Amino acid sequence: MSTPEVSPAVNFIRHIIDQDLETAKYEGRVVTRFPPEPNGYLHIGHAKSICLNFGLAAAYGGACHLRFDDTNPIKEEDEYVEAIKADVRWLGFDWGANLFYASDYFEKLYQYAVALINKGKAYVCSLSAEEIREHRGTLTEPGKDSPYRNRSVEENLALFEKMRRGEFADGAHVLRAKIDMASPNLNLRDPVMYRILTAHHHRTGDKWCIYPMYDFAHGQSDSIERITHSICTLEFEDHRPLYDWFIRELGIYAPQQIEFARLNLTYTVMSKRKLLELVGEKHVSGWDDPRMPTLTGMRRRGYSPAAIRNFCERIGVGKSDSLIDMSVLEDCVREDLNEVAPRALAVLQPLKVVIENYPEGQVEYFEAANHPQKPEMGSRQVPFSREIYIERDDFMEDPPKKFFRLAPGREVRLRFAYFVRCDEVVKDANGEVVELRCSYDPETRGGSAPDGRKVKGTIHWVSAAHALPAEVRLYDRLFTVPNPGSKQSDYREQLNPESLVKLSGCRVEPGLAEAAVGEPRQFERLGYFCADRDSAPEALVFNRTVTLRDSWAKQEQG
Ligand code: ATP
Ligand code: MG
Repeated sequence: MSTPEVSPAVNFIRHIIDQDLETAKYEGRVVTRFPPEPNGYLHIGHAKSICLNFGLAAAYGGACHLRFDDTNPIKEEDEYVEAIKADVRWLGFDWGANLFYASDYFEKLYQYAVALINKGKAYVCSLSAEEIREHRGTLTEPGKDSPYRNRSVEENLALFEKMRRGEFADGAHVLRAKIDMASPNLNLRDPVMYRILTAHHHRTGDKWCIYPMYDFAHGQSDSIERITHSICTLEFEDHRPLYDWFIRELGIYAPQQIEFARLNLTYTVMSKRKLLELVGEKHVSGWDDPRMPTLTGMRRRGYSPAAIRNFCERIGVGKSDSLIDMSVLEDCVREDLNEVAPRALAVLQPLKVVIENYPEGQVEYFEAANHPQKPEMGSRQVPFSREIYIERDDFMEDPPKKFFRLAPGREVRLRFAYFVRCDEVVKDANGEVVELRCSYDPETRGGSAPDGRKVKGTIHWVSAAHALPAEVRLYDRLFTVPNPGSKQSDYREQLNPESLVKLSGCRVEPGLAEAAVGEPRQFERLGYFCADRDSAPEALVFNRTVTLRDSWAKQEQG
Protein backbone atom coordinates (compact mmCIF):
# COMPACT_ATOMS: atom_id res chain seq x y z
CA MET A 1 0.00 0.00 0.00
CA SER A 2 1.53 3.31 -1.05
CA THR A 3 0.90 6.52 0.86
CA PRO A 4 2.06 9.50 -1.18
CA GLU A 5 1.92 12.70 0.84
CA VAL A 6 -0.81 14.48 -1.06
CA SER A 7 -2.60 15.49 2.09
CA PRO A 8 0.02 15.34 4.82
CA ALA A 9 -2.19 16.61 7.64
CA VAL A 10 -2.93 13.79 9.99
CA ASN A 11 -6.50 13.53 11.13
CA PHE A 12 -8.58 11.02 13.01
CA ILE A 13 -10.02 9.64 9.80
CA ARG A 14 -6.55 8.69 8.63
CA HIS A 15 -6.07 6.75 11.84
CA ILE A 16 -9.26 4.79 11.15
CA ILE A 17 -8.16 4.07 7.60
CA ASP A 18 -4.68 3.06 8.74
CA GLN A 19 -6.23 0.57 11.15
CA ASP A 20 -8.56 -0.79 8.49
CA LEU A 21 -5.58 -1.29 6.22
CA GLU A 22 -3.73 -3.13 8.97
CA THR A 23 -6.62 -5.49 9.59
CA ALA A 24 -7.32 -5.80 5.85
CA LYS A 25 -10.97 -4.90 6.55
CA TYR A 26 -11.49 -3.82 2.96
CA GLU A 27 -8.75 -5.91 1.36
CA GLY A 28 -6.49 -2.87 1.32
CA ARG A 29 -8.91 -0.75 -0.71
CA VAL A 30 -9.67 2.90 0.04
CA VAL A 31 -12.71 4.23 -1.81
CA THR A 32 -14.39 7.45 -0.71
CA ARG A 33 -17.08 9.56 -2.36
CA PHE A 34 -18.27 13.11 -2.52
CA PRO A 35 -22.08 12.97 -2.75
CA PRO A 36 -23.64 16.37 -3.51
CA GLU A 37 -27.34 16.78 -4.02
CA PRO A 38 -27.73 18.76 -7.28
CA ASN A 39 -30.05 21.33 -5.70
CA GLY A 40 -27.68 24.29 -5.56
CA TYR A 41 -24.13 25.38 -6.13
CA LEU A 42 -21.16 24.18 -4.11
CA HIS A 43 -19.88 26.37 -1.30
CA ILE A 44 -16.73 26.54 0.77
CA GLY A 45 -18.16 23.93 3.17
CA HIS A 46 -18.39 21.47 0.32
CA ALA A 47 -14.78 22.31 -0.51
CA LYS A 48 -13.78 20.94 2.88
CA SER A 49 -15.54 17.67 2.10
CA ILE A 50 -14.11 17.53 -1.45
CA CYS A 51 -10.55 18.15 -0.26
CA LEU A 52 -10.98 15.55 2.46
CA ASN A 53 -12.49 12.81 0.29
CA PHE A 54 -10.36 13.32 -2.80
CA GLY A 55 -7.32 14.01 -0.61
CA LEU A 56 -7.71 10.70 1.25
CA ALA A 57 -8.16 8.79 -1.98
CA ALA A 58 -5.00 10.35 -3.39
CA ALA A 59 -3.04 9.83 -0.18
CA TYR A 60 -3.83 6.12 -0.13
CA GLY A 61 -3.72 5.48 -3.86
CA GLY A 62 -7.45 4.80 -3.81
CA ALA A 63 -10.41 6.33 -5.61
CA CYS A 64 -12.96 9.01 -4.87
CA HIS A 65 -16.34 8.85 -6.56
CA LEU A 66 -18.37 11.87 -7.54
CA ARG A 67 -21.92 10.78 -6.88
CA PHE A 68 -24.97 12.93 -7.41
CA ASP A 69 -27.42 12.18 -4.67
CA ASP A 70 -30.37 12.98 -6.88
CA THR A 71 -33.31 11.39 -5.13
CA ASN A 72 -35.46 14.49 -4.66
CA PRO A 73 -36.70 15.50 -8.12
CA ILE A 74 -38.49 18.62 -6.93
CA LYS A 75 -35.36 20.57 -6.09
CA GLU A 76 -32.85 19.13 -8.52
CA GLU A 77 -31.74 20.39 -11.90
CA ASP A 78 -29.18 19.67 -14.60
CA GLU A 79 -27.85 23.20 -14.28
CA TYR A 80 -26.63 22.27 -10.82
CA VAL A 81 -25.10 18.99 -11.98
CA GLU A 82 -22.99 20.79 -14.56
CA ALA A 83 -22.02 23.57 -12.18
CA ILE A 84 -20.95 21.09 -9.50
CA LYS A 85 -18.77 19.18 -11.95
CA ALA A 86 -17.13 22.42 -13.10
CA ASP A 87 -16.49 23.50 -9.51
CA VAL A 88 -14.93 20.18 -8.45
CA ARG A 89 -12.64 20.29 -11.48
CA TRP A 90 -11.78 23.92 -10.85
CA LEU A 91 -10.81 23.06 -7.29
CA GLY A 92 -8.28 20.67 -8.81
CA PHE A 93 -9.86 17.24 -8.41
CA ASP A 94 -10.57 14.54 -10.94
CA TRP A 95 -13.04 11.71 -10.46
CA GLY A 96 -11.85 9.99 -13.65
CA ALA A 97 -14.39 7.35 -14.64
CA ASN A 98 -16.01 7.40 -11.21
CA LEU A 99 -19.06 9.50 -11.95
CA PHE A 100 -22.28 8.11 -10.48
CA TYR A 101 -25.90 9.06 -9.92
CA ALA A 102 -28.09 7.65 -7.17
CA SER A 103 -30.91 7.79 -9.75
CA ASP A 104 -29.09 5.08 -11.71
CA TYR A 105 -29.85 2.79 -8.76
CA PHE A 106 -33.61 3.41 -8.61
CA GLU A 107 -34.43 -0.07 -9.93
CA LYS A 108 -31.94 -1.72 -7.63
CA LEU A 109 -33.16 0.26 -4.64
CA TYR A 110 -36.71 -0.77 -5.48
CA GLN A 111 -35.63 -4.42 -5.46
CA TYR A 112 -33.91 -3.89 -2.10
CA ALA A 113 -37.15 -2.49 -0.74
CA VAL A 114 -39.06 -5.50 -2.03
CA ALA A 115 -36.52 -7.75 -0.33
CA LEU A 116 -37.16 -6.01 2.98
CA ILE A 117 -40.92 -6.37 2.53
CA ASN A 118 -40.43 -10.07 1.88
CA LYS A 119 -38.41 -10.35 5.09
CA GLY A 120 -41.22 -8.68 7.02
CA LYS A 121 -38.95 -5.68 7.60
CA ALA A 122 -40.89 -3.07 5.66
CA TYR A 123 -44.54 -2.18 5.29
CA VAL A 124 -46.81 0.16 3.41
CA CYS A 125 -48.27 2.70 5.80
CA SER A 126 -51.36 4.69 4.91
CA LEU A 127 -51.24 7.28 7.66
CA SER A 128 -50.92 10.88 6.52
CA ALA A 129 -47.64 12.72 7.04
CA GLU A 130 -49.30 14.54 9.91
CA GLU A 131 -50.43 11.30 11.56
CA ILE A 132 -47.01 9.75 11.14
CA ARG A 133 -45.56 12.72 12.96
CA GLU A 134 -48.08 12.33 15.77
CA HIS A 135 -47.30 8.63 16.11
CA ARG A 136 -43.56 9.21 16.26
CA GLY A 137 -43.42 10.26 19.92
CA THR A 138 -40.71 12.46 21.34
CA LEU A 139 -37.24 12.15 22.81
CA THR A 140 -38.81 11.32 26.18
CA GLU A 141 -41.88 9.35 25.03
CA PRO A 142 -41.98 6.24 22.86
CA GLY A 143 -43.91 6.34 19.60
CA LYS A 144 -47.10 4.43 18.77
CA ASP A 145 -47.30 1.65 16.24
CA SER A 146 -49.02 2.47 12.98
CA PRO A 147 -52.31 0.58 12.53
CA TYR A 148 -50.87 -0.60 9.20
CA ARG A 149 -47.74 -2.06 10.76
CA ASN A 150 -48.95 -5.64 10.58
CA ARG A 151 -50.12 -5.77 7.01
CA SER A 152 -49.25 -9.08 5.42
CA VAL A 153 -46.25 -9.45 3.16
CA GLU A 154 -48.59 -10.12 0.22
CA GLU A 155 -50.63 -7.03 0.85
CA ASN A 156 -47.48 -4.92 1.22
CA LEU A 157 -46.01 -6.27 -2.01
CA ALA A 158 -49.22 -5.58 -3.90
CA LEU A 159 -49.59 -2.06 -2.50
CA PHE A 160 -45.94 -1.17 -3.08
CA GLU A 161 -46.22 -2.28 -6.68
CA LYS A 162 -49.34 -0.19 -7.15
CA MET A 163 -47.48 2.76 -5.64
CA ARG A 164 -44.82 2.29 -8.29
CA ARG A 165 -47.41 1.98 -11.07
CA GLY A 166 -48.84 5.37 -10.17
CA GLU A 167 -52.21 4.14 -8.90
CA PHE A 168 -52.23 6.42 -5.85
CA ALA A 169 -52.13 10.12 -5.25
CA ASP A 170 -49.10 11.78 -3.71
CA GLY A 171 -49.05 11.19 0.02
CA ALA A 172 -51.64 8.37 0.01
CA HIS A 173 -49.10 5.80 1.21
CA VAL A 174 -45.45 5.49 2.13
CA LEU A 175 -43.16 2.53 2.57
CA ARG A 176 -41.66 2.32 6.05
CA ALA A 177 -38.95 0.20 7.62
CA LYS A 178 -40.29 -1.96 10.46
CA ILE A 179 -37.80 -1.39 13.24
CA ASP A 180 -38.86 -0.16 16.67
CA MET A 181 -41.37 2.56 17.55
CA ALA A 182 -39.93 2.72 21.07
CA SER A 183 -36.30 3.16 20.07
CA PRO A 184 -34.54 5.98 21.93
CA ASN A 185 -33.16 6.93 18.51
CA LEU A 186 -35.99 8.62 16.62
CA ASN A 187 -34.42 7.70 13.31
CA LEU A 188 -35.19 4.05 14.08
CA ARG A 189 -38.91 4.59 14.71
CA ASP A 190 -40.07 3.02 11.48
CA PRO A 191 -38.52 5.62 9.17
CA VAL A 192 -40.04 6.31 5.77
CA MET A 193 -38.14 4.62 2.91
CA TYR A 194 -40.26 5.64 -0.08
CA ARG A 195 -42.78 8.32 -0.84
CA ILE A 196 -45.12 8.91 -3.76
CA LEU A 197 -44.11 12.00 -5.68
CA THR A 198 -45.55 12.74 -9.08
CA ALA A 199 -42.67 14.81 -10.32
CA HIS A 200 -40.39 14.96 -13.33
CA HIS A 201 -36.84 13.90 -12.52
CA HIS A 202 -33.95 15.62 -14.28
CA ARG A 203 -32.51 12.26 -15.36
CA THR A 204 -35.19 9.59 -15.14
CA GLY A 205 -37.96 11.81 -16.48
CA ASP A 206 -41.42 10.42 -15.67
CA LYS A 207 -40.33 6.83 -15.25
CA TRP A 208 -40.80 6.92 -11.50
CA CYS A 209 -43.45 8.31 -9.24
CA ILE A 210 -42.04 6.90 -6.02
CA TYR A 211 -38.70 8.09 -4.77
CA PRO A 212 -36.42 6.72 -2.04
CA MET A 213 -35.70 8.86 0.99
CA TYR A 214 -32.14 10.00 1.64
CA ASP A 215 -31.56 7.46 4.43
CA PHE A 216 -32.62 4.56 2.27
CA ALA A 217 -30.79 5.70 -0.87
CA HIS A 218 -27.54 6.86 0.59
CA GLY A 219 -26.08 3.83 2.36
CA GLN A 220 -27.29 1.45 -0.33
CA SER A 221 -25.63 3.61 -3.00
CA ASP A 222 -22.42 3.51 -0.97
CA SER A 223 -22.75 -0.26 -0.79
CA ILE A 224 -23.43 -0.69 -4.51
CA GLU A 225 -20.30 1.34 -5.30
CA ARG A 226 -18.30 -0.60 -2.71
CA ILE A 227 -17.27 2.55 -0.90
CA THR A 228 -14.99 1.74 2.02
CA HIS A 229 -15.23 4.92 4.08
CA SER A 230 -18.41 6.96 3.77
CA ILE A 231 -17.52 10.31 5.29
CA CYS A 232 -20.30 12.69 6.24
CA THR A 233 -20.94 15.54 8.63
CA LEU A 234 -21.76 15.14 12.33
CA GLU A 235 -25.51 15.59 12.07
CA PHE A 236 -25.62 12.11 10.49
CA GLU A 237 -24.14 10.44 13.54
CA ASP A 238 -27.67 9.61 14.75
CA HIS A 239 -28.47 8.16 11.34
CA ARG A 240 -25.58 5.67 11.44
CA PRO A 241 -27.61 2.97 13.28
CA LEU A 242 -30.18 3.19 10.50
CA TYR A 243 -27.45 3.17 7.82
CA ASP A 244 -26.09 -0.01 9.38
CA TRP A 245 -29.55 -1.54 9.90
CA PHE A 246 -30.51 -1.40 6.21
CA ILE A 247 -27.18 -2.88 5.15
CA ARG A 248 -27.38 -5.64 7.74
CA GLU A 249 -30.98 -6.58 6.97
CA LEU A 250 -30.26 -6.64 3.25
CA GLY A 251 -27.11 -8.65 3.85
CA ILE A 252 -25.10 -6.55 1.43
CA TYR A 253 -21.56 -5.16 1.42
CA ALA A 254 -21.02 -2.78 4.36
CA PRO A 255 -19.11 0.49 4.07
CA GLN A 256 -18.05 2.32 7.24
CA GLN A 257 -19.77 5.65 7.89
CA ILE A 258 -17.53 8.20 9.62
CA GLU A 259 -18.66 11.64 10.76
CA PHE A 260 -16.62 14.84 10.94
CA ALA A 261 -17.39 18.42 11.92
CA ARG A 262 -18.82 20.58 9.17
CA LEU A 263 -17.21 23.86 8.30
CA ASN A 264 -18.91 26.97 9.62
CA LEU A 265 -17.48 30.36 8.70
CA THR A 266 -18.12 33.74 10.27
CA TYR A 267 -19.92 36.55 8.42
CA THR A 268 -21.62 34.27 5.94
CA VAL A 269 -24.30 31.60 5.67
CA MET A 270 -23.93 28.19 4.14
CA SER A 271 -27.26 26.45 4.22
CA LYS A 272 -28.49 25.88 0.69
CA ARG A 273 -31.92 27.13 1.63
CA LYS A 274 -30.47 30.48 2.66
CA LEU A 275 -28.18 30.69 -0.35
CA LEU A 276 -31.16 30.01 -2.60
CA GLU A 277 -33.07 32.77 -0.82
CA LEU A 278 -30.20 35.24 -1.23
CA VAL A 279 -30.23 34.56 -4.96
CA GLY A 280 -34.01 34.29 -5.35
CA GLU A 281 -34.73 37.45 -3.37
CA LYS A 282 -31.96 39.29 -5.22
CA HIS A 283 -29.90 40.22 -2.19
CA VAL A 284 -26.99 39.20 -4.42
CA SER A 285 -26.64 39.22 -8.21
CA GLY A 286 -26.55 35.42 -8.54
CA TRP A 287 -24.79 32.26 -7.40
CA ASP A 288 -21.52 33.69 -8.65
CA ASP A 289 -21.87 37.02 -6.91
CA PRO A 290 -18.36 37.58 -5.55
CA ARG A 291 -19.74 38.01 -2.03
CA MET A 292 -21.27 34.53 -1.96
CA PRO A 293 -19.50 31.68 -0.12
CA THR A 294 -19.99 29.58 -3.26
CA LEU A 295 -16.99 28.29 -5.17
CA THR A 296 -18.26 29.99 -8.31
CA GLY A 297 -18.54 33.29 -6.39
CA MET A 298 -15.08 32.92 -4.93
CA ARG A 299 -13.63 32.12 -8.35
CA ARG A 300 -15.21 35.25 -9.80
CA ARG A 301 -13.90 37.27 -6.89
CA GLY A 302 -10.37 36.06 -7.59
CA TYR A 303 -9.77 33.37 -4.97
CA SER A 304 -7.56 30.65 -6.40
CA PRO A 305 -8.16 26.91 -6.00
CA ALA A 306 -4.77 26.68 -4.28
CA ALA A 307 -5.80 29.20 -1.63
CA ILE A 308 -9.01 27.31 -0.92
CA ARG A 309 -7.24 23.94 -0.75
CA ASN A 310 -4.68 25.43 1.57
CA PHE A 311 -7.46 26.80 3.78
CA CYS A 312 -9.12 23.38 3.97
CA GLU A 313 -5.79 21.86 4.96
CA ARG A 314 -5.19 24.52 7.58
CA ILE A 315 -8.53 24.21 9.39
CA GLY A 316 -8.11 20.45 9.69
CA VAL A 317 -10.67 17.75 10.26
CA GLY A 318 -12.12 17.20 13.70
CA LYS A 319 -15.04 15.86 15.65
CA SER A 320 -16.48 18.98 17.24
CA ASP A 321 -18.35 21.75 15.50
CA SER A 322 -16.69 25.12 15.46
CA LEU A 323 -16.96 28.46 13.77
CA ILE A 324 -13.88 29.40 11.75
CA ASP A 325 -13.07 33.06 11.40
CA MET A 326 -13.40 34.46 7.89
CA SER A 327 -9.98 36.06 8.34
CA VAL A 328 -8.38 32.60 8.22
CA LEU A 329 -9.71 32.15 4.69
CA GLU A 330 -8.76 35.68 3.71
CA ASP A 331 -5.23 35.15 5.00
CA CYS A 332 -4.87 32.06 2.83
CA VAL A 333 -6.03 34.11 -0.15
CA ARG A 334 -3.54 36.89 0.62
CA GLU A 335 -0.64 34.50 1.07
CA ASP A 336 -1.33 32.90 -2.26
CA LEU A 337 -1.86 36.15 -4.15
CA ASN A 338 1.21 37.77 -2.65
CA GLU A 339 3.24 35.05 -4.35
CA VAL A 340 1.55 34.96 -7.72
CA ALA A 341 -0.03 38.35 -8.44
CA PRO A 342 1.93 40.76 -10.66
CA ARG A 343 1.93 44.31 -9.34
CA ALA A 344 0.19 47.19 -11.08
CA LEU A 345 -0.63 50.84 -10.45
CA ALA A 346 -4.24 51.93 -10.15
CA VAL A 347 -5.90 54.95 -8.59
CA LEU A 348 -9.36 54.32 -7.22
CA GLN A 349 -10.31 57.87 -6.25
CA PRO A 350 -8.31 60.11 -8.54
CA LEU A 351 -7.06 63.57 -7.68
CA LYS A 352 -5.33 65.38 -10.51
CA VAL A 353 -1.76 66.58 -10.03
CA VAL A 354 -0.09 68.95 -12.48
CA ILE A 355 3.71 68.96 -12.29
CA GLU A 356 4.28 72.49 -13.43
CA ASN A 357 8.02 72.34 -14.02
CA TYR A 358 7.78 69.14 -16.07
CA PRO A 359 8.04 69.81 -19.84
CA GLU A 360 4.70 69.89 -21.56
CA GLY A 361 4.20 67.06 -24.05
CA GLN A 362 7.07 64.99 -22.64
CA VAL A 363 6.55 61.32 -21.79
CA GLU A 364 9.02 59.14 -19.93
CA TYR A 365 8.79 55.44 -19.29
CA PHE A 366 9.86 53.95 -15.98
CA GLU A 367 10.76 50.36 -15.58
CA ALA A 368 8.50 48.84 -12.95
CA ALA A 369 9.15 45.41 -11.45
CA ASN A 370 6.16 43.09 -11.67
CA HIS A 371 7.04 41.65 -8.27
CA PRO A 372 9.50 43.29 -5.89
CA GLN A 373 10.88 39.96 -4.63
CA LYS A 374 10.65 38.00 -7.86
CA PRO A 375 12.80 39.32 -10.70
CA GLU A 376 11.79 36.26 -12.71
CA MET A 377 8.33 37.77 -13.02
CA GLY A 378 9.85 40.51 -15.17
CA SER A 379 9.03 44.15 -15.46
CA ARG A 380 7.01 46.57 -17.54
CA GLN A 381 7.28 50.16 -18.73
CA VAL A 382 4.98 52.66 -17.03
CA PRO A 383 4.40 56.03 -18.71
CA PHE A 384 4.88 59.27 -16.80
CA SER A 385 3.93 62.76 -17.88
CA ARG A 386 3.15 66.25 -16.65
CA GLU A 387 -0.35 65.44 -15.49
CA ILE A 388 -0.93 62.48 -13.25
CA TYR A 389 -3.58 61.17 -10.88
CA ILE A 390 -2.92 60.25 -7.30
CA GLU A 391 -5.24 58.77 -4.69
CA ARG A 392 -7.42 61.41 -3.07
CA ASP A 393 -6.57 59.88 0.32
CA ASP A 394 -2.89 60.49 -0.27
CA PHE A 395 -3.37 64.22 0.09
CA MET A 396 -4.45 66.18 3.17
CA GLU A 397 -4.71 69.90 3.28
CA ASP A 398 -4.27 70.07 7.00
CA PRO A 399 -2.54 66.83 7.95
CA PRO A 400 -1.83 65.48 11.41
CA LYS A 401 1.78 64.99 12.38
CA LYS A 402 2.02 61.34 11.45
CA PHE A 403 0.70 61.85 7.92
CA PHE A 404 3.66 61.21 5.61
CA ARG A 405 1.98 61.64 2.27
CA LEU A 406 1.26 64.77 0.26
CA ALA A 407 0.27 68.06 1.88
CA PRO A 408 0.87 71.72 1.04
CA GLY A 409 4.62 72.37 1.04
CA ARG A 410 5.47 68.70 1.62
CA GLU A 411 7.46 66.36 -0.56
CA VAL A 412 6.77 62.68 -1.33
CA ARG A 413 8.21 60.04 -3.61
CA LEU A 414 6.17 58.95 -6.60
CA ARG A 415 6.61 55.19 -6.94
CA PHE A 416 9.28 54.39 -9.61
CA ALA A 417 9.57 58.09 -10.55
CA TYR A 418 10.55 61.33 -8.80
CA PHE A 419 10.10 63.35 -5.63
CA VAL A 420 7.32 65.91 -5.99
CA ARG A 421 6.36 68.80 -3.74
CA CYS A 422 2.90 70.28 -3.44
CA ASP A 423 3.03 74.02 -4.14
CA GLU A 424 -0.61 74.98 -4.57
CA VAL A 425 -4.08 73.61 -3.94
CA VAL A 426 -6.86 74.35 -6.44
CA LYS A 427 -10.46 74.27 -5.19
CA ASP A 428 -13.82 74.52 -6.84
CA ALA A 429 -16.65 76.86 -5.86
CA ASN A 430 -17.67 74.51 -3.01
CA GLY A 431 -14.22 74.51 -1.49
CA GLU A 432 -13.56 70.98 -2.71
CA VAL A 433 -9.95 70.25 -3.66
CA VAL A 434 -9.93 69.51 -7.40
CA GLU A 435 -6.29 69.73 -8.38
CA LEU A 436 -2.79 70.04 -6.95
CA ARG A 437 -0.02 72.07 -8.51
CA CYS A 438 3.32 70.46 -7.79
CA SER A 439 6.95 70.63 -8.81
CA TYR A 440 9.35 67.75 -9.25
CA ASP A 441 13.06 67.45 -8.70
CA PRO A 442 14.68 65.99 -11.85
CA GLU A 443 17.67 64.93 -9.74
CA THR A 444 15.53 62.39 -7.88
CA ARG A 445 14.81 60.19 -10.91
CA GLY A 446 14.67 56.60 -9.69
CA GLY A 447 13.62 57.55 -6.20
CA SER A 448 16.47 59.10 -4.24
CA ALA A 449 17.97 62.57 -3.92
CA PRO A 450 21.70 63.05 -4.59
CA ASP A 451 21.85 65.55 -1.72
CA GLY A 452 20.68 62.81 0.64
CA ARG A 453 17.40 64.44 1.68
CA LYS A 454 14.70 61.97 2.62
CA VAL A 455 10.98 61.72 2.15
CA LYS A 456 8.88 59.55 4.39
CA GLY A 457 6.11 58.60 2.00
CA THR A 458 5.89 56.85 -1.35
CA ILE A 459 2.60 57.04 -3.18
CA HIS A 460 1.26 55.45 -6.34
CA TRP A 461 0.03 57.32 -9.39
CA VAL A 462 -0.95 56.95 -13.03
CA SER A 463 -0.29 59.22 -15.98
CA ALA A 464 -3.49 61.13 -16.79
CA ALA A 465 -3.07 60.94 -20.55
CA HIS A 466 -2.24 57.25 -20.57
CA ALA A 467 -4.35 55.75 -17.81
CA LEU A 468 -7.52 53.87 -18.66
CA PRO A 469 -10.83 54.52 -16.94
CA ALA A 470 -12.24 51.59 -15.01
CA GLU A 471 -14.96 50.60 -12.62
CA VAL A 472 -13.72 48.94 -9.45
CA ARG A 473 -16.02 46.87 -7.25
CA LEU A 474 -15.04 46.76 -3.62
CA TYR A 475 -16.40 43.72 -1.83
CA ASP A 476 -16.70 43.29 1.84
CA ARG A 477 -18.29 40.71 4.10
CA LEU A 478 -21.87 39.93 3.20
CA PHE A 479 -23.08 40.21 6.80
CA THR A 480 -22.30 42.61 9.60
CA VAL A 481 -22.37 39.99 12.36
CA PRO A 482 -20.15 36.92 12.83
CA ASN A 483 -23.02 34.46 13.08
CA PRO A 484 -25.95 35.69 10.98
CA GLY A 485 -29.31 34.19 11.82
CA SER A 486 -28.32 33.00 15.27
CA LYS A 487 -30.46 33.66 18.34
CA GLN A 488 -33.76 33.75 16.44
CA SER A 489 -32.63 36.70 14.32
CA ASP A 490 -33.44 36.91 10.61
CA TYR A 491 -30.13 36.66 8.77
CA ARG A 492 -31.54 38.88 6.02
CA GLU A 493 -31.73 41.78 8.41
CA GLN A 494 -28.02 41.43 9.07
CA LEU A 495 -26.87 41.91 5.51
CA ASN A 496 -24.00 44.37 5.21
CA PRO A 497 -25.29 47.34 3.16
CA GLU A 498 -21.70 48.16 2.28
CA SER A 499 -20.74 44.70 1.12
CA LEU A 500 -20.52 46.06 -2.42
CA VAL A 501 -19.28 49.53 -3.28
CA LYS A 502 -18.92 50.32 -6.96
CA LEU A 503 -16.37 53.01 -7.77
CA SER A 504 -16.59 54.46 -11.22
CA GLY A 505 -14.05 56.82 -12.70
CA CYS A 506 -11.04 54.94 -11.38
CA ARG A 507 -7.85 55.11 -13.44
CA VAL A 508 -5.54 52.17 -14.07
CA GLU A 509 -2.19 51.80 -15.79
CA PRO A 510 -2.57 51.00 -19.51
CA GLY A 511 -1.14 47.48 -19.26
CA LEU A 512 -4.19 46.40 -17.26
CA ALA A 513 -6.24 46.38 -20.45
CA GLU A 514 -4.57 43.05 -21.12
CA ALA A 515 -5.45 41.42 -17.80
CA ALA A 516 -7.56 38.36 -18.52
CA VAL A 517 -10.76 37.77 -16.57
CA GLY A 518 -9.91 36.33 -13.16
CA GLU A 519 -6.17 36.85 -13.53
CA PRO A 520 -4.86 38.29 -10.27
CA ARG A 521 -3.05 41.61 -9.87
CA GLN A 522 -1.89 43.47 -6.83
CA PHE A 523 -2.83 47.13 -7.15
CA GLU A 524 0.06 48.52 -5.16
CA ARG A 525 -0.91 49.74 -1.71
CA LEU A 526 -4.57 48.84 -2.29
CA GLY A 527 -5.09 45.12 -2.40
CA TYR A 528 -5.57 42.24 -4.80
CA PHE A 529 -7.86 42.62 -7.79
CA CYS A 530 -8.90 40.80 -10.93
CA ALA A 531 -10.85 41.68 -14.05
CA ASP A 532 -14.51 40.72 -13.74
CA ARG A 533 -16.40 38.84 -16.41
CA ASP A 534 -18.36 42.07 -17.00
CA SER A 535 -15.12 43.76 -18.11
CA ALA A 536 -14.81 44.85 -21.74
CA PRO A 537 -11.90 46.60 -23.53
CA GLU A 538 -13.79 49.89 -23.61
CA ALA A 539 -15.24 49.50 -20.11
CA LEU A 540 -12.85 47.79 -17.75
CA VAL A 541 -14.25 46.33 -14.52
CA PHE A 542 -12.14 45.01 -11.67
CA ASN A 543 -13.13 43.13 -8.53
CA ARG A 544 -11.30 43.60 -5.30
CA THR A 545 -10.46 40.09 -4.17
CA VAL A 546 -9.08 41.02 -0.77
CA THR A 547 -7.39 43.96 0.89
CA LEU A 548 -3.68 43.88 1.69
CA ARG A 549 -4.34 43.66 5.42
CA ASP A 550 -7.19 42.54 7.59
CA SER A 551 -9.25 45.65 8.24
CA TRP A 552 -11.80 43.84 10.43
CA ALA A 553 -9.44 42.72 13.18
CA LYS A 554 -9.24 46.25 14.61
CA GLN A 555 -12.99 46.80 14.54
CA GLU A 556 -13.66 43.55 16.39
CA GLN A 557 -11.30 44.51 19.18
CA GLY A 558 -12.75 48.00 19.49
P1 ATP B 1 -28.09 21.47 2.89
O1 ATP B 1 -27.57 22.86 3.21
O2 ATP B 1 -29.31 21.50 2.05
O3 ATP B 1 -28.13 20.54 4.06
P2 ATP B 1 -25.64 20.28 2.04
O4 ATP B 1 -24.77 21.48 2.06
O5 ATP B 1 -25.54 19.25 3.10
O6 ATP B 1 -27.11 20.78 1.88
P3 ATP B 1 -25.14 18.21 0.09
O7 ATP B 1 -25.23 18.34 -1.36
O8 ATP B 1 -25.97 17.19 0.77
O9 ATP B 1 -25.48 19.63 0.63
O10 ATP B 1 -23.64 18.03 0.54
C1 ATP B 1 -22.73 17.18 -0.12
C2 ATP B 1 -21.62 16.79 0.80
O11 ATP B 1 -20.94 17.94 1.27
C3 ATP B 1 -22.14 16.05 2.01
O12 ATP B 1 -21.35 14.87 2.16
C4 ATP B 1 -21.93 16.99 3.15
O13 ATP B 1 -21.56 16.29 4.29
C5 ATP B 1 -20.80 17.89 2.67
N1 ATP B 1 -20.95 19.22 3.25
C6 ATP B 1 -21.97 20.07 3.08
N2 ATP B 1 -21.81 21.19 3.81
C7 ATP B 1 -20.63 21.05 4.46
C8 ATP B 1 -19.90 21.86 5.39
N3 ATP B 1 -20.35 23.06 5.77
N4 ATP B 1 -18.72 21.39 5.85
C9 ATP B 1 -18.27 20.19 5.46
N5 ATP B 1 -18.90 19.38 4.60
C10 ATP B 1 -20.08 19.79 4.11
MG1 MG C 1 -27.04 17.57 2.92
